[in-house]
Amino acid sequence: MEKIGFIGLGRMGLPMASNIIKGGYSVFCYDVVASQLQAAIANGGHKCSSIAEIVAQSDIIITMLPNSAIVREVIATGAEALLSTAKSGQLIMDMSTVSPETTDFIATSCVEKGVEFVDAPVGRLASHADNGQSLFMVGGSKDGYQRVLPLLELMGSDIYHCGAQGAGTRTKLVNNFLAISYCQMNAEALSLASGFGLDLDSTLDVLYGTTAVNGQLKIAWPAKILSDDKAPGFTIDLAHKDLSLVVEAANSQRVSMPMAAAAREAFSLARSRGFGGEDFSAMLDVQCDLNQLKPPRLATGSKYKPG
Ligand code: NAD
Repeated sequence: MEKIGFIGLGRMGLPMASNIIKGGYSVFCYDVVASQLQAAIANGGHKCSSIAEIVAQSDIIITMLPNSAIVREVIATGAEALLSTAKSGQLIMDMSTVSPETTDFIATSCVEKGVEFVDAPVGRLASHADNGQSLFMVGGSKDGYQRVLPLLELMGSDIYHCGAQGAGTRTKLVNNFLAISYCQMNAEALSLASGFGLDLDSTLDVLYGTTAVNGQLKIAWPAKILSDDKAPGFTIDLAHKDLSLVVEAANSQRVSMPMAAAAREAFSLARSRGFGGEDFSAMLDVQCDLNQLKPPRLATGSKYKPG
């Protein structure tokens, strides 16, 4: 069995690493935050105190980090970067959401070292990661894909090989444009319903029964903001980061995306009003706050309140 290194044990990385451990693999863990690392050790991971230790212990190294700058530093450019000690035959799989330029840079840097690279960003919610039900968008060679497949099958239920290196990251930006923009659309729709004084359950009856329906409204929101749960999940800060990646990548391709730009600015406003650390479904409360409206919530006993 290959030995696995896992760097970045946050809201997503911790359950993902834990699901690999449950599958019987030895997983060597590293995070800059001691409590996150400790949680992974409590779930059966092996503690590493540096990136160099991860590289020394592992055949496949997974990164699940916040943003492009940190991914570049940890894998390629930092004083103790993975690639400064990695050897030919090892494989790095970055599962973070980053810019296409970052993924391309990392892929090229890996080739120079004889290290295989796969980009495999993650779709769906943190709750899916907890249950091993994530969806993965994979970019990489056929050999690289086959090598990481057993690990992806432990962490998720739907796995798509989207193309060569970089195709996973690019597919993720296409997906997240829609998935995140719907939060602002839903926030505006439900704030209007609140302004009209409409009953929430009756409004949802209609929205769930027409083409207005979307995954955020039907799957994510009843368990989160509509049940008054603002704990992230996926933060407004990270959603803003992803929409910024979309807008910048679209600009670099000369693709115009006015809705993405508008949605990104709605998230900018949410951050400036202090909502950045809350779950991205809390865009509903930002919109209601701005318009001095009562934020809609499911009543106790509502058929839409998860059991
Ligand atoms: P998070 O902030 O909860 O976790 C990131 C972890 O990385 C933290 O534990 C942090 O301490 C660690 N870290 C930061 N810098 C580090 C470094 N230099 N070395 C080692 N560890 C370091 O974020 P998250 O919600 O787990 O998201 C991680 C990535 O996955 C992001 O790119 C995000 O956009 C993406 N993503 C998140 C979700 C979600 O629902 N939360 C879903 C899909 C994709």
